[in-house]
Amino acid sequence: MTTYTTTSFQPVLDRIAEEIAGLTDRGAPADYIPALAAGDPADFGMAVAELDGTVYGVGDWRRPFSTQSVTKVFTLALALAGEGDALWAHVGREPSGDPFNSLVQLEYENGIPRNPFINAGALVVTDRLHRLTGDASGSLLNFLRAESGNPELAFDTAVAASEATHGDRNAALAHFMASYGNITGPVPDLLREYFRQCSLEASCADLALATGFLARHGLRADGTRLLTRSQAKQVNAVMLTCGTYDAAGDFAYRVGLPGKSGVGGAVVAVVPGRCTLCVWSPGLDSRGNSVAGVTALDRFTTITGLSVF
Ligand code: GLN
Repeated sequence: MTTYTTTSFQPVLDRIAEEIAGLTDRGAPADYIPALAAGDPADFGMAVAELDGTVYGVGDWRRPFSTQSVTKVFTLALALAGEGDALWAHVGREPSGDPFNSLVQLEYENGIPRNPFINAGALVVTDRLHRLTGDASGSLLNFLRAESGNPELAFDTAVAASEATHGDRNAALAHFMASYGNITGPVPDLLREYFRQCSLEASCADLALATGFLARHGLRADGTRLLTRSQAKQVNAVMLTCGTYDAAGDFAYRVGLPGKSGVGGAVVAVVPGRCTLCVWSPGLDSRGNSVAGVTALDRFTTITGLSVF
């Protein structure tokens, strides 16, 4: 395969946007969170950020959307930076093979979720980050503002409230894990932090930039270190195997990059040592991954040859 050699990613992004415009089946927006149900599957944006912060984009790449589970990458990184390997006593790192909000494995596995990217695992990570920092959602927001260079990033309180009102499933997961002693703080506090986290609004440009530390082997945008090289590798590996839930195998097959999706329609992906990507389109497949988003990433790695394989 030919490696993409031009100095600018713009032509490849323009070509992908043109191809995506012809995509007829784009899935449907998440409707179990009423505030997300109005998303239009025709919307599409994509950005690529290089290691030095140069960003290329196409479509709605500067338009903010609900980041949802993409934030699970950043809370994992912050918790891992805060407490190191002790985190892994509370959450595993195996694909679950079940939907992202499933309860079934938790009882067999004593309240230890399979991985940090399904809801149960993300709830554990947010609980631990809250314990470490006293302000999980605030630490997340500060980190994302710094890495994206966008001080205006904020939570969408209407989305957080919508999730809280329809949050029985997440509440059940949190209470069930608390019954095994795997949640340290009060469950209502954890749910408030988790719903705020999921409600964060950001654009493709913001998220591509904010994911840069994973392509820079743990170095933040200002050159300071968040994660060791080995921890950055670990986060990328868990993204590859678990970041798109029970479609992680198909995502690895098609895209060949560590990636993380959210039900707002965003997907971030990492080319270690080279660049980071974020694509957004609100139409989801049955597993909760953006149809146009995964297709665009598939086209990106196919056209450029940039993949971990
Ligand atoms: N806030 C959503 C939830 O907890 C996040 C899920 C997702 O993006 N996969 O259900």
